Amino acid sequence: MRPFIVIAEDETSVAELLRYNLEALDYKTASATDGEEALLLIEERVPDLVILDWMLPKVSGIEICRRLRSRPQTANIPIMMLTAKTEEADRIRGLETGADDYITKPFSIHELMARVKAVLRRIRPALVEKLITVGDISINRGTYQVTRNGEPIELGPTEFRLLDYFAQHPGRVFSREQLLDGVWGSDVFVEARTVDVHIGRLRKALMSKGGDNPIRTVRSAGYSLKSG
Ligand code: CA
Repeated sequence: MRPFIVIAEDETSVAELLRYNLEALDYKTASATDGEEALLLIEERVPDLVILDWMLPKVSGIEICRRLRSRPQTANIPIMMLTAKTEEADRIRGLETGADDYITKPFSIHELMARVKAVLRRIRPALVEKLITVGDISINRGTYQVTRNGEPIELGPTEFRLLDYFAQHPGRVFSREQLLDGVWGSDVFVEARTVDVHIGRLRKALMSKGGDNPIRTVRSAGYSLKSG
């Protein structure tokens, strides 16, 4: 699952430079050229990171930052703020907007990419790491190999994506709808019951070499992967 990054920047050359370099690193991106569009994009699909220009038409970067931080669904999204000048950067830092990082324009694209990785690694380690371990389960996202207690586990592609999704947030309970959106995508029509079928297969596979059931069913709430 590729990390999803929203770029909110009205200077098209800057937006294009960001998009090109992020996609080269295998991140999925969506771009907005004004603040309203950015908020709509974020509402449509909660991103893993937002790169936000401070001076945006319609709704400013700072206002977007405040709105995202004030809603529980978006409060934890990492935000990297782009600003035009150093003095501006100092000023907005002082405003405590809740951004996770600030980059001054003009920036070096290599430095920006390094900071994107650093922010993601700090906030969502599972997104940038090739090897994820949750309890006795290891997931290699480069080779798509999964082991439990060192024993290889055979998984179908959907079960792999489900496990990978759970592993990004161990312990968190996901509803069927959230799993459908996160694993199948919100534009695909799949019945909620399908989730149960794949959870069943994933469970069976993970328990095939011994060990207890690592996926918890939370009555009327959904499923979660035990964190240890
Ligand atoms: Ca701007």
